[in-house]
Amino acid sequence: MKDESQRISVLPSGSDLRLPWHLRLPGPLERDFAEFFRNSVATVAPWAALNVILLLALALALECYISPEVAARTWRPRLLCAMLAVATILVARRSEWRRWLHTVSLALAFAVALTGDWMGVAVNHPLGFSLFLQTPLAILLMSVLLRVPFYGAVAGSVALIAALAASLRASPHIGLELSLVLLLLSLASASMSLFGQYIYERLLRQHFLSENVLFQHRDELHSANRVLESQATVDGLTGCLNRRGMEARLDELLHGFGRGGAGERASVLLFDIDFFKQYNDTYGHQAGDECLKTVASIPRALTQGDKDFVARYGGEEFMVVLANTSLKDALVFAERMRTRIEQLGLPHSGSRVSQVVTISVGVVCAGERAADATTLIKCADEALYQAKGAGRNRVAYMSDQGRVATL
Ligand code: GH3
Ligand code: MG
Ligand code: MG
Repeated sequence: MKDESQRISVLPSGSDLRLPWHLRLPGPLERDFAEFFRNSVATVAPWAALNVILLLALALALECYISPEVAARTWRPRLLCAMLAVATILVARRSEWRRWLHTVSLALAFAVALTGDWMGVAVNHPLGFSLFLQTPLAILLMSVLLRVPFYGAVAGSVALIAALAASLRASPHIGLELSLVLLLLSLASASMSLFGQYIYERLLRQHFLSENVLFQHRDELHSANRVLESQATVDGLTGCLNRRGMEARLDELLHGFGRGGAGERASVLLFDIDFFKQYNDTYGHQAGDECLKTVASIPRALTQGDKDFVARYGGEEFMVVLANTSLKDALVFAERMRTRIEQLGLPHSGSRVSQVVTISVGVVCAGERAADATTLIKCADEALYQAKGAGRNRVAYMSDQGRVATL
């Protein structure tokens, strides 16, 4: 025999699901992740952009100090970058614009690197080579601070390094050795920051996947619980509440008395099909089941209130509970239900009271001195017994004074 723990199937957890090396999540999860990622980046992007604005201002101040001629060339590119940094802040803060966040972040990183290249070529100053260092800084900005998705960051880094190489070649002030040093620095910053970016995105995706799997399990458990709950309280043949469901609903209704909502009254109707044993004997058990379904559909169609309900009390005995209904109204309902069932015209040759299927009904009303469920059912049963005794196919009721009478 198998050991007990082997028989329990274990639900897979998120960490059991391995992410592929290329990081792609299955199906629609990828789209959901993109939004999750953007939203998580949006909380830090404004601070990163603010950092960029401060550094640009410091750089410009230093350039003014070193040489006003240099500053005359650099203030416009610096202003352009600052404007893009402001745009990044705005896009990150407005949720309806957020889908553009990575694009604006890329644009900012490109602006920082390309204006650096342009200034490096245009500025003729012994320190002018340092302007080319904006490329490795832009790569760091793109991957580490603004967290552009990994593949975007890889493509962006390759493009920026290629642009740097072209600018260094075109620059009349930079020699080959310095060019190689600058390129190596850019390459080092790209490889390190992209490696970090890959690890970060991998962890974030694994976390997202785990949460998603957890949510999926929770939803499955909720719907399984709902199914079990309804299976436990609903009668499979007729779709009415079963006895257990009936007891819960009736208790709930009676406990609501005096607390508003349910009112102070409720009527209980118990009905039973006349000569049903003979029906089964004549038409067979299966036809009997069909008859039960058809009969039950009548009170179900007639009840309207949220708190009203129909339950299968026993084999071919049903209970209807009408919330906030007086005895008088309950008797009107009972008589209408009895007539409708008779009018269905379901042939019943074994019946000794009619040619068609009929019912007998017992009615009781829980009045101001709210009775408990057991007493109410007992009273309704007594009235039903009276209806049977008085010839069947009729309604009987128990009055407030405890007397039973037929209609
Ligand atoms: P009365 O008019 O006095 O109620 O007579 P009756 O023959 O209906 O008597 P009783 O209420 O005691 O009969 C119950 C019968 O209902 C017995 C059983 O064969 C039948 N029955 C109970 N549950 C089912 C069911 O799920 N399907 C079918 N087809 N018959 C059922
Ligand atoms: Mg019966
Ligand atoms: Mg019966």
